[in-house]
Amino acid sequence: MTSRKPSTRRATSRTKGKAATRAAKQPNLRGRSRASIEARAKEVLRLLKAEYPEAHCALEHANAYQLLVATILSAQCTDARVNMVTPILFSRYPTAGALAAAAQEDLEEIIRSTGFFRSKSKNLIAMAQVLVAEHEGEVPETMVALHALPGVGRKTANVVLGNAFGINEGIVVDTHVTRLTRLLGLSKQKDALKIERDLVELFPRKDWALLAHLLIWHGRQVCIARRPRCEACVLAHACPSSRF
Ligand code: SF4
Repeated sequence: MTSRKPSTRRATSRTKGKAATRAAKQPNLRGRSRASIEARAKEVLRLLKAEYPEAHCALEHANAYQLLVATILSAQCTDARVNMVTPILFSRYPTAGALAAAAQEDLEEIIRSTGFFRSKSKNLIAMAQVLVAEHEGEVPETMVALHALPGVGRKTANVVLGNAFGINEGIVVDTHVTRLTRLLGLSKQKDALKIERDLVELFPRKDWALLAHLLIWHGRQVCIARRPRCEACVLAHACPSSRF
């Protein structure tokens, strides 16, 4: 008869060795190296997808025209407030043609609670007039054409392209995305365009629209400005800013 004890001991030693080798090969998820940042980005996307399977655009809309109008209204305003205003706005002005012919004072009354209502009204009517004059009343599907519309910046264009047309041209960088991107060490930049450039290098194009929703949802529910709830955060083990 042979005893198996010596071989068990050797196996345990080998297992420990393999585990140590594997651990040494794992990138530090909180590190600053390019490999760490890329691994962290992958982990962030994986965990947030699992955490918020229902993440979507919070601005209620039925078509590209409605999303474009709602996104312009959302500047310096909460999505919840915009969603209170848009039902009456869209029933009054259901198309770009109707909005193009709106009286500014009437529009101002409807959108007053969203803030900056004079400039927003002016931009909305001018934007609708360009849609009618140059795009047969339809919302164009390119960054260049959208960006050329009055009141439409790159962020608004990215929202419309990604959510109304399923075109991942870029990544929406709003206040939540900016804050989380910096806290998570995915970008050191402060300028939205530079942050967007860093993010498109780190995440697969097919996930660009979803990524913004995930970061925004996490920023609203857990990584809240001024009081991030690191103790309840699924990203804590990978976040260089975690307090845990
Ligand atoms: S660990 Fe804290 S700082 Fe980092 S993402 Fe989570 S809540 Fe934000």
